[in-house]
Amino acid sequence: MTQPRDHQPGDHQPGDRIAPDYIAPDYIAPDPLVAALAESLGVANVLTDADQRAGYETDWTGRFHGESRCVIRPASTADVAAVIRLCADHGATVVPQGGNTGLVGGSVPRGGEVVLSTRRLTRLDAVDIAAGQVTVGAGVTIAAVREHVRCVGYDVAVDFGARDSATIGGAMATNAGGSRVLRFGTMRSQVAGCEAVLADGAVIGSLAGLAKETIGPHLPSLLSGSEGTLAIITMIRLRLVPWYRETATALVALPSLVAAVELLPTLRNALPHLDSVELLMPSAMELVCEHLQRTCPVDDRAGAYLLIECADHADPLDDLAGVLAAAAPDSSTAIASNPSMRAQLVALRDNVTVAINHTGTPLKLDIALPLAVLAATTAEIERIIAELAPGARLINFGHLAEGNLHLNTLGAGEASGAITEAVLQRVIDAGGVISAEHGIGVAKTHWLVAQRGAPEVAALTAIKHSLDPNGLLNPGVLLP
Ligand SMILES: Cc1cc2nc3c(=O)[nH]c(=O)nc-3n(C[C@H](O)[C@H](O)[C@H](O)COP(=O)(O)OP(=O)(O)OC[C@H]3O[C@@H](n4cnc5c(N)ncnc54)[C@H](O)[C@@H]3O)c2cc1C
Repeated sequence: MTQPRDHQPGDHQPGDRIAPDYIAPDYIAPDPLVAALAESLGVANVLTDADQRAGYETDWTGRFHGESRCVIRPASTADVAAVIRLCADHGATVVPQGGNTGLVGGSVPRGGEVVLSTRRLTRLDAVDIAAGQVTVGAGVTIAAVREHVRCVGYDVAVDFGARDSATIGGAMATNAGGSRVLRFGTMRSQVAGCEAVLADGAVIGSLAGLAKETIGPHLPSLLSGSEGTLAIITMIRLRLVPWYRETATALVALPSLVAAVELLPTLRNALPHLDSVELLMPSAMELVCEHLQRTCPVDDRAGAYLLIECADHADPLDDLAGVLAAAAPDSSTAIASNPSMRAQLVALRDNVTVAINHTGTPLKLDIALPLAVLAATTAEIERIIAELAPGARLINFGHLAEGNLHLNTLGAGEASGAITEAVLQRVIDAGGVISAEHGIGVAKTHWLVAQRGAPEVAALTAIKHSLDPNGLLNPGVLLP
């Protein structure tokens, strides 16, 4: 806390009247909320110095930044409830933050909010082996939960490149997707229960994890994808999947995106252990190879690349190789089930986002299109971007089975607004969505009405107002 700097103890006697000019000109009155938070959590868990706050105030992409009033680091649901009550009493707005790997600006302050970091909510209960579930704190990273549950033969269904920093609470709050959605669904499908703190400090939810319940609307579903606007998620009862120790990975060079979409039904039908089908368009392959200083392991003149994974209890390599030989006989393919060779292939996909950020600050769009129109609409989008920003570099990759493309335009400059307008409108017209897995954040609120329609946005706003009437939780995020 900031202390009055020019005050010397003993300068006056108790009861002395202190003239206004006694107060030094640079004196900053202590913030009563900060003092109350420090009393509740301990001074060490209320960060007020600019240096300590800095890492919480800028997002992973470097595009979004704002100053916070302070950063608080509660360690339990009871702590969260206590500090949220204090914030409510002082009318203070709160930005929940997990690993701060979100890509739409929802996890950092816009100016003057309290940042509530969940990174000390790290409870990890023993795996409930019979139920195939585990109860974890919202601040545990995806990688840490995965390591914990693999000890007893289970696995986490959701996985993506930011696994070492992204938290399970952040994944639920954004309804994260990643590479295994085609097999197991998004994060929403993995949540069997949760505990959360409302804007007035009330604790709600259940961690019983019963697979069947029809007792009214499902709270975990309501909070999945709510991006910190309805409640702070503190604990999650997570559904687990078997840990398939054997994985085969293939990188396939195909002539076009059309050919990649055409291969998909064969992969789904012929490979019961199909785990992921990731897409890299040539621009993404070129950039990631540049970044990793590697050459492309397959034909580098392809029109589209698929990174296909099968996971099972027995090595699925022969099945995958057989299906590819029959369905894409002329394609240049690299295939492996040996862990170090697989890691080389997977690194190409995992490092695309990192390579982009290393090259510059992109205009990021995360869209999904129906597979029937994916190739044609993507070609149109490429034309739109080339026309609006002739010198820009579009890096395009994503999750093929969900029609989910990450369109990253480097060097969009002043055309960014026009590109966003034109591309997102084209996506909506084609029956797609303007955010497939990253969320709306502050980046896309403007588009929510066009996407969902005014009556639906009014219904969502009514839910928000009933749970958080004073708009204290993550203002400016999700809802316009
Ligand atoms: C390299 C890289 C790769 C990525 N790949 C993918 C991918 O394949 N698929 C995908 O879906 N995402 C991906 N992302 C985006 C990001 O990792 C996910 O959105 C992730 O779920 C965010 O988790 P987090 O803990 O970092 O949340 P944060 O970034 O801290 O927060 C994200 C949002 O959730 C809210 N929030 C966080 N925790 C809580 C909580 N406990 N209670 C309430 N609200 C909360 C925040 O207020 C914010 O609105 C990627 C990001 C990077 C950097």
